[in-house]
Amino acid sequence: MRADLHSHSTASDGTRPPDEVMRRAGAAGLDAIALTDHDTVAGISAAAAALPSGLTLVPGMELSCRRQGHSVHLLAYLFDPDHPELAAQTERIRQSRVERAREMVARLAELGTAVTWEQVTAIAGDGVIGRPHVARAMVDAGVIGSVDEAFTPEWIGPGGRAHVRRYALDPMDAISLVGAAGGVCVLAHPCAQRLGWLVPDDLITELAAVGLAGVEVAHPGHDETERRQLAGLAAKLGLVATGGSDDHGELTGDRIGVDWTQGEEFERLISSATGTWLITS
Ligand SMILES: [Zn+2]
Ligand SMILES: [Zn+2]
Repeated sequence: MRADLHSHSTASDGTRPPDEVMRRAGAAGLDAIALTDHDTVAGISAAAAALPSGLTLVPGMELSCRRQGHSVHLLAYLFDPDHPELAAQTERIRQSRVERAREMVARLAELGTAVTWEQVTAIAGDGVIGRPHVARAMVDAGVIGSVDEAFTPEWIGPGGRAHVRRYALDPMDAISLVGAAGGVCVLAHPCAQRLGWLVPDDLITELAAVGLAGVEVAHPGHDETERRQLAGLAAKLGLVATGGSDDHGELTGDRIGVDWTQGEEFERLISSATGTWLITS
């Protein structure tokens, strides 16, 4: 069994609409796919409606968190989407993303670039505005040659000239909130250093102590050594070892299904979730 537990659609910063993400997941031969848009479940119903037969949809989202200066992304699965406090917190994060993007565009203008707010909103469409949309507008305006260049200290990467912080949940609070909504949390891409992620082992240990269910071991940003180390840490802490492609459509070169979670680990992960159900066609 292969379960890709990490994917994005146009409901956040992916380039493919939810129905197309499902079709591609089916074509990739997956048994299960989680749609995990940033801080929103807006794409889930469209994904469910387009589910190819034989494919199971795991409802989820990727929550933006921060602790001790570290950006922490948590993949949350099978929570009750109508839980009032969880819904209020994700709304606050989405609002803050929009405000931050506006502020970044203002700073880019001060730096003499031709990026406009209209361009950024046009690129985002119905999705939750995020830094990748600003990055794509920078490419379109000829400021940089590729989206990757935007995420450096030169531009909108952490510490960058046009970087702006936004509201984020403490991951300790996020884990208990998702738990209260019946869901389970997995730490996303802790070692994808090229993208600026490095969650230290002691922080992972702290998160495990408050109910983190799993850690994403197989991710395109992790090399073989990192996968081995993370698998060892997961075993030591009793965490489920998951995998996912973190596909964003064209933005990441359509890589759905390149990394996945094995059947036993998948069963272990979902066994404790009570907030909502797996969706099958
Ligand atoms: Zn992430
Ligand atoms: Zn992601």
